[in-house]
Amino acid sequence: MPIPAEDRPLPQSPATTRRVEYSTCYMCACRCGIQVTLEDDELRFIQGTRDHPVNQGVLCAKGSAGIMKQRSPAKLRKPLRRKPGALRGRNEFDEIEWDEALAIVEARLRAIRTTDPRKLAFFTGRDQMQALTGLWAQQFGTPNWAAHGGFCSVNMAAAGLYSIGFSFWEFGAPDWDRAKYFVLWGVAEDHSSNPIKIGLDKLKRNRAKFVSINPIRTGYSAIADEWLPIRPGTDGLLALAIVHVLLRDGTIDYEFLARYTNAPWLVVDAPGTSEHGLFARDRDGRPLVFDDSLGSVTSDVGIATVPALFKTLTLDDGRHVATVMTHVAGRYVGDDYAPAAVAERCGIAADTIERLAREMAHVAFEEAIELPIAWTDVWGRHHDKVVGRPVAMYAMRGISAHSNGFQTCRALHLLQMLLGALDGPGNFRARAPYPKPIPPHQLPATACAPGKPLTRAPLGFPMSPDDLAIDEHGVPLRIDKAYSWESPIAAHGLMHMVIANAVAGDPYPIDMLLLFMANMAWNSAMNTGVTRDLLCAQNEDGSYKIPFVVVCDAFASETVAFADLVLPDTTYLERYDAISLLDRPISEPDAPADAIRHPIVPLDRDVRPWQDVLIELASRLEFPAFTRDDGRRKFVDYRDFIIRFERAPGIGFLGGWRGERGDEPLVGAPNPRQWEAYEKHHAFFAYHLPDQLKWHRYANREYLEFAQDVGFIGAAEPIVMQLWSEPLQKFRLAGQGVYAGRQPTDARDRERLATYFDPLPFWYPSLEGCETDCAKYPLMALTQRPMMMYHSWDAQNAWLRQIIADNALYVNVRTAHECGLADGDWAWVESTHGKLRCRIRTMEGVEPGTVWTWNAIGKQGGAWGLAADAPEATTGFLLNHLICEHLPKRGDDGRRITNSDPITGQAAWFDVRVRLTKCESGEYGTAPCAPPLADAAGVARPAVIRWPE
Ligand code: SF4
Repeated sequence: MPIPAEDRPLPQSPATTRRVEYSTCYMCACRCGIQVTLEDDELRFIQGTRDHPVNQGVLCAKGSAGIMKQRSPAKLRKPLRRKPGALRGRNEFDEIEWDEALAIVEARLRAIRTTDPRKLAFFTGRDQMQALTGLWAQQFGTPNWAAHGGFCSVNMAAAGLYSIGFSFWEFGAPDWDRAKYFVLWGVAEDHSSNPIKIGLDKLKRNRAKFVSINPIRTGYSAIADEWLPIRPGTDGLLALAIVHVLLRDGTIDYEFLARYTNAPWLVVDAPGTSEHGLFARDRDGRPLVFDDSLGSVTSDVGIATVPALFKTLTLDDGRHVATVMTHVAGRYVGDDYAPAAVAERCGIAADTIERLAREMAHVAFEEAIELPIAWTDVWGRHHDKVVGRPVAMYAMRGISAHSNGFQTCRALHLLQMLLGALDGPGNFRARAPYPKPIPPHQLPATACAPGKPLTRAPLGFPMSPDDLAIDEHGVPLRIDKAYSWESPIAAHGLMHMVIANAVAGDPYPIDMLLLFMANMAWNSAMNTGVTRDLLCAQNEDGSYKIPFVVVCDAFASETVAFADLVLPDTTYLERYDAISLLDRPISEPDAPADAIRHPIVPLDRDVRPWQDVLIELASRLEFPAFTRDDGRRKFVDYRDFIIRFERAPGIGFLGGWRGERGDEPLVGAPNPRQWEAYEKHHAFFAYHLPDQLKWHRYANREYLEFAQDVGFIGAAEPIVMQLWSEPLQKFRLAGQGVYAGRQPTDARDRERLATYFDPLPFWYPSLEGCETDCAKYPLMALTQRPMMMYHSWDAQNAWLRQIIADNALYVNVRTAHECGLADGDWAWVESTHGKLRCRIRTMEGVEPGTVWTWNAIGKQGGAWGLAADAPEATTGFLLNHLICEHLPKRGDDGRRITNSDPITGQAAWFDVRVRLTKCESGEYGTAPCAPPLADAAGVARPAVIRWPE
């Protein structure tokens, strides 16, 4: 039998020392397993790990190009301090030693922590280590911590966690092997890159139908069986029109709704009172249902209960109630969501919407899957098989990055619930540690005190206005105003508001902005030009309004230039990392899993892993969780921390090979040889669930007991999916002035709560669109990431730059013609907020009212080791200049409201409207164009990079 090409020995000179190491890719957020071959400690090539649960051996262009990331001239080489007298943003630094750098940070942090810990704002990018950074912030005592989720896709996560107990993004995955009908909503081709490519391949081989709903037909959409070019921001309208058809035709899963959702729960009908819209409950707080078998109301749901789905009645105490399902039918069967009523607005024909609904219903109910697996539900009902309705969906940023994204994502989950298509064969399935109680039992920090850790983690899931992080006057506790009346369920914070709020001193000034891997002076900021000015804003005495900016990064990004102190990080091939079940794990639906990275390449410069720096600072500042009773530090470094830290007895950052002998999965005493065990087992751990634990886990008794035992959930109780969200209704009551607890006083806050916190999903037009003259700005402008670049991470990558080094604005051929533009022309693109110049490319595969470009390809000359005249800087551009972090209109008091989803605070990047004008002859080149950066200390800019040299 021939040896597969990848297994054949490579030619090797006798003097060469070759070794193969396993690790986890970090060229994007997928976290594929990689097999790295080195010769004499030099990277030779990178392959996919064949038995890895995420990528099964597949590697993408970015993953292979990790070699060039390691060889990038833009690597920072030593700690840097802004030169005395130099201005921020000029990239003028002195190299300093680590001892001095750490002493500076330690002294500043100590002063902040002992006086007012809120004055540290610690925000991170796509870092994959939030379990550590969140713990660190909690121990420091600042509520001002979050990662990138607030400007990425928190709408996805929050909507799922308030509806079904898991979510799109990293907390669930389609059952690629069994789905017969797959709908992809608003997903660009870099997202979940290798898993989706592998999954689409399976769908094609299995002859499943693949429908892509996306204004742009590139990447995944290009191989869809049906592409539906929807108008941006109207996906919720389309989903609810499909809901209308399913309800009208009665093609819904009655049994699923009655058993596993709150469809039969009774809702109090008492307008104008504090009870209106809340669930009728018994004395112990258990919701009431009407039992058709008894002919009476009960809270004691068991095997014999037959909950009525449609019922209106008067309780013994005189209160009028109706089931959730009665409200659902009343809301969606009416004309508002009829296909004919929404077709024009969505850009999808009414008969197409009717057909989509019928196709989904047909597959769900006529082509159901049965697996011969016996299981027992949490009420004790024995099932001799697992039934699946093989309609799967997946959604991402195209849905999420609008100001109506949360309710749109809730609409998708409503559709899944009506079809009974969740966590069964062929469905969208949960990935451990999900599903969790709805919402997860974790409230956000609402208070802080000098010198003390927070009593709760900074981020969480409010159940009502009483859980907001505000003071008695309604003033936000957090610098980003997350969990305030303006963004009550901001489960991932609002990183996009931090700099503007800090400079305005609203709600208060800060002392230190600590950024890790967050390019806030470029592509991670709405309103990039103004954000850069804000970072340099000074008081009358010449001091900076944000007094001290610390940036930790491995590469010379645009944001590094604005730092007062730069702490240089390692690359992902030079350090220890844990992709933890306590964070955003790599679990697959059938297997809770986690993974590691470990140093593969020797360090060649004076940099330190950020994790080690955090452990060092936590030890010096004597955070309780990092300090022994006798005052000595608890952990030597991050490697040691991962082995010995326990969040609860037996539960640590890594679940594999626990116990003193290394033979206990998921829970067990610390194992001093745990890292070695991971290295030996290809750098990942997967615990394969037995068949009877794999399905319908929200109600699967054995799974729920297992999940409790290993710490995924607190109690083995049913996770009842929520069509009607009571937490949202409590906020709505507060907006209406009748909530029995905290109420907002500002009229705009009251109106936002009363309008948008609807307990049932609904559609509304974008907030920015409502404040914009749409006739003057007729086009929607979007961005998406290409498969071969992840945000700005790879501008320094010599191989990937050869694939893409600048970007254009893509316009529908017909639209371009109407604007007097031809392929290759330069044009002005203008929003209400700003104006930029870029090159136009025309294409057929884009909805005519939409223009789009690749995200973060445009760069500042001189950043990322690029030459001043690099294409990224001269013809590449950033759409961010056109997007404002505030809505256009001010209130009567001058107050501006964040340009975000009013429920979660998700940045509404995709709501921007623009118009196009052809440039005059002689007008060309990117504008606005930031002046090229001077050379940063230690960063090289060779004209040509060769490998091997
Ligand atoms: S999809 Fe590509 S870049 Fe992302 S983790 Fe996997 S191999 Fe790496």
